[in-house]
Amino acid sequence: MPDPHHLKRRGVLFVLSSPSGAGKSTIARKLLAAEPELEMSVSVTTRKPRVGEVDGKDYHFVDLEEFRRMAADDEFLEWAHVFDNRYGTPRAQVDAMLTAGKDVLFDIDWQGAQQLFQIAGGDVVRVFIFPPSMAELRQRLERRATDAVEVIDARMARAANEVSHWDGYDYVLVNDDVEACFAGVKTILAAERLKRSRQTGLIGFIRKLTR
Ligand code: 5GP
Repeated sequence: MPDPHHLKRRGVLFVLSSPSGAGKSTIARKLLAAEPELEMSVSVTTRKPRVGEVDGKDYHFVDLEEFRRMAADDEFLEWAHVFDNRYGTPRAQVDAMLTAGKDVLFDIDWQGAQQLFQIAGGDVVRVFIFPPSMAELRQRLERRATDAVEVIDARMARAANEVSHWDGYDYVLVNDDVEACFAGVKTILAAERLKRSRQTGLIGFIRKLTR
C-alpha cells in the first residue's frame, strides 16, 4: 500500500568523500544495502582494475582515448584528475536515476564534490569522512596490501591534500567506529530527505490538508 505520508520530492545527490582507506566504501556499501531508494553512481576511470573489482559495478574501466572522447562529447557531469588517473561521473546514468525518483550516491573526491555543487547546488549534500588518524590510515592502506609501497606513499600524500578540503563539505564525520559512522551517515540522509526545499509535493499536500 502506498504510504499516505509520502510526498513527492526532489532527489538527493549524496556525495561521500574521504581519503582512500578511511572506510568510505564500507559505509557506501552498507548504506546502499539499507536504503532501497538510493542508487550508486558508477564512475568511469582510466585506472586499472584492482584485484576483485568488477567492470560496470565498481567502475567502468576505460582507456585514456575513450575517456577523452566521453569528455569531449560532454558525457560527464563532472570529471577530475586523481593521482595519475582520470575519473568521471556519467551524466546519463545520474539523470536516469533521478528521473526514476531515486537518490544518488557518489563516491567522488573534493574536486567532484565542488563541481557537482556548482551544477546542482541545493540538491547536493556533501559528506566528508575523516580517518581516526593519519597513522591509522596508513595501517589500513598497508593492510589492504593491494598497492605497492610507492603507491601507498602517494596515497598518503593525496590523503593529506584531500583532508585539507574538508571545509568544502556540509557534514563531517570521523570513522573511528564503522557502525557509529554508518549511523551518522544514515541520519544525515534521512534528515536531508525531509528538508522542506525538497518537498515538491508539499503545496498540493497542504492544500488538501487545509481544505
Ligand atoms: P580509487 O582509485 O581509490 O577507487 O579512487 C580514488 C579517488 O577517486 C577516490 O577519492 C574517489 O572518491 C575518487 N573518484 C572516484 N570516482 C570519481 C569520479 O567520478 N569523479 C571524481 N571527481 N572523483 C572520483
